[in-house]
Parts: sequence; C-alpha cells; structure tokens
Amino acid sequence: MIKITDLEKFYRTEEVETIALNKLSLEINTGEFVAIMGPSGCGKSTLLNILGMLDDADGGSYLFNGAEIAHYTERKRAHLRKHNLGFVFQSFNLIDELTVFENVELPLIYTKVPVKERLARVEAVLEKMQIMHRRNHYPQQLSGGQQQRVAIARAVVNNPKLILADEPTGNLDSSNGNEVMELLTDLNEQGTTIIMVTHSEHDARYSHRIIRLLDGQTVLENILI
Ligand code: ADP
Ligand code: ADP
Repeated sequence: MIKITDLEKFYRTEEVETIALNKLSLEINTGEFVAIMGPSGCGKSTLLNILGMLDDADGGSYLFNGAEIAHYTERKRAHLRKHNLGFVFQSFNLIDELTVFENVELPLIYTKVPVKERLARVEAVLEKMQIMHRRNHYPQQLSGGQQQRVAIARAVVNNPKLILADEPTGNLDSSNGNEVMELLTDLNEQGTTIIMVTHSEHDARYSHRIIRLLDGQTVLENILI
C-alpha cells in the first residue's frame, strides 16, 4: 500500500535548517498494523503528515497504491484523503459546536453521500463504537474516552483503507486507552491498515511491527507476530 524511498524533509528558518526526514525508506502492506516510535523530534509527526498527504516531502518518493503522491494536484490529494484516509489524533480534534452525530456526519457531507444513507451510516458506526446514547451531546459533555470513540467513528465512517493515528491514547487513562487500542485492533482485523505513532511500548504491542526512528531515519524494526 505504501512505499517510501529516500524521503527527505527539511524545515528552514533564516538561521537554521532542520533535517526532519533523512532519506527515510519503508514499506507498509495492506492489512498491516504498524507502530512508529522514537524520541521527540525524530520525525514521527512529519512522517505522519506526509503519509496523510497533509504535507509534501522535499525529496524522495512516496507511492500510495503505486501512485506517486508528489505528482498529484492538491485537488486529487484532497480527494484521496477524503475517500481513503482516516485520521485519529491525541487531542481528538472534534468540533465543539457540533453534536456527536454531526461530527461523525461531516466526512459524509464532504463526500456527498446522500442524506438517507448518511444517517444510516452514522447510526451504524455510533452503535459500533458504543456511543449512540450520546448522539446529541456535545464533545465537551463527554469523557476523554468517549470523545476518542467519537473521533474514531468519524475517522472510519467513510470506510477508509488506511487509518493514521497520532498518539491515540495520549490523553486517556489506561482503561480508556486499552479500549481505544481494542477498537483499532478490531478495525485492523476487519481489513483496515493502521499506522500509529506512539510513545507507549504497551500500545505498540497491539501492532504487528514497530518501526523505530532516530534523527529522521529508520533505525530498527521489530516484528511482533
Ligand atoms: P511529539 O514529540 O509528541 O510528536 P512534537 O514535538 O512533534 O510532539 O510537536 C507536535 C507538533 O509541533 C508537530 O506536528 C510539529 O509539526 C510541530 N513542531 C515540532 N517542532 C516544531 C518546531 N521546531 N517548530 C515549529 N513546529 C514544530
Ligand atoms: P516528532 O513527531 O518525532 O517529535 P517532528 O516530526 O515533529 O518529530 O519533528 C522533526 C524535527 O523537525 C524536529 O527537529 C522538529 O523540531 C523539526 N520541526 C518539525 N516541524 C517543524 C516546523 N514546522 N518548523 C521547523 N521545524 C520543525
């Protein structure tokens, strides 16, 4: 699904140039659940932003299902993002002014899913995430664990092929964190590829493979199964 070769990313300011990704190469197959780990500043967020087509690399190649992403227009990328990718963040990133239901409905409005199908799909995914009873609540009225279940519902409502998760349990206690990891495991077992950045060795053990980064390069890979 993903093949990255010699990927480079630089951040330049007037005084300094930071090499965030230093000829990074890696491959991720359809159906995998991969954890990306490494110390703060090693390039995890940069990599996730590029994989999510939110940012461009400065060099190297990023093939997504065989297509070179750098050759795509922003419009084409936005289309790929909306239909193929789901994002889960540490801080949930829900819209406070919208209800649970409306937050999860939003990606389906963007992709112009007809209203009847939209409502049915939102209900189904809220049931699956066991948050249906809070459908008319606002994010601030929910616990952290509930907010992350809503965020996962929003990420998967368009049936993405790939979920990119950035520290998905970072703001949760261990019991809610484990619940979120179980949900991601279930989604992976149903065929969704998952790439998760984490600082937690415990969470990483839910994955199949840990890719460890240091200074923008892969330093080690651990196969867990
Ligand atoms: P973590 O180590 O938990 O991944 P980061 O230190 O990467 O957190 O910071 C989170 C976000 O802040 C990143 O998405 C990155 O884009 C941004 N960031 C990190 N370092 C800098 C910096 N030196 N200048 C501007 N933004 C930065
Ligand atoms: P991580 O997520 O592993 O903490 P990041 O990808 O956020 O690492 O950052 C990698 C390197 O790039 C760090 O040295 C960071 O300070 C730098 N960096 C990240 N984002 C920015 C930015 N927007 N501007 C300048 N430097 C950045």
